[in-house]
Amino acid sequence: MSRIHSLKGHLDELWSFESLAVDLKERQDLHLDVSGVLSVSAGGLKHWKAWLDGLGRPQLYLHFCTPLFFEQMNSVRGLQYLQAIVGSVEVHYVCPACSTELDYMMYRGQNFIEGTAEHRESLTLPEKVSCPSCSHPMEPDFRGQDYFSFLKYRN
Ligand SMILES: [Zn+2]
Repeated sequence: MSRIHSLKGHLDELWSFESLAVDLKERQDLHLDVSGVLSVSAGGLKHWKAWLDGLGRPQLYLHFCTPLFFEQMNSVRGLQYLQAIVGSVEVHYVCPACSTELDYMMYRGQNFIEGTAEHRESLTLPEKVSCPSCSHPMEPDFRGQDYFSFLKYRN
């Protein structure tokens, strides 16, 4: 895989993409680690798209997406707008017995794959997550259908 660049902070229309120093060769994909993104504004999204256009519209892969990032992106329909492929996404579990929280990283190809014109999307959530503190079964803190709606193929 090519280099992963880290995108961090509040992504608004003033965010400086130059600081990423992305230098893509022709037909290369662009991989971004978005775990440090705190917010994405509508203006920031347009700014992001313009930067991608300037790079020759590489296929964008987003890695280590957090629930916060998804919440922000969903409110501006960002994943569709950027035609981004999600490489990995964090899911959050909570123990109903002792309130211990656990983050679990799901990977494209291992745990999920987006739908295409050729094949349907697929998603394999862990069958049972046990609490690391008290072994009680943990509960997902996300609604699978909504959270993973980005996997659906859109023509
Ligand atoms: Zn517990």
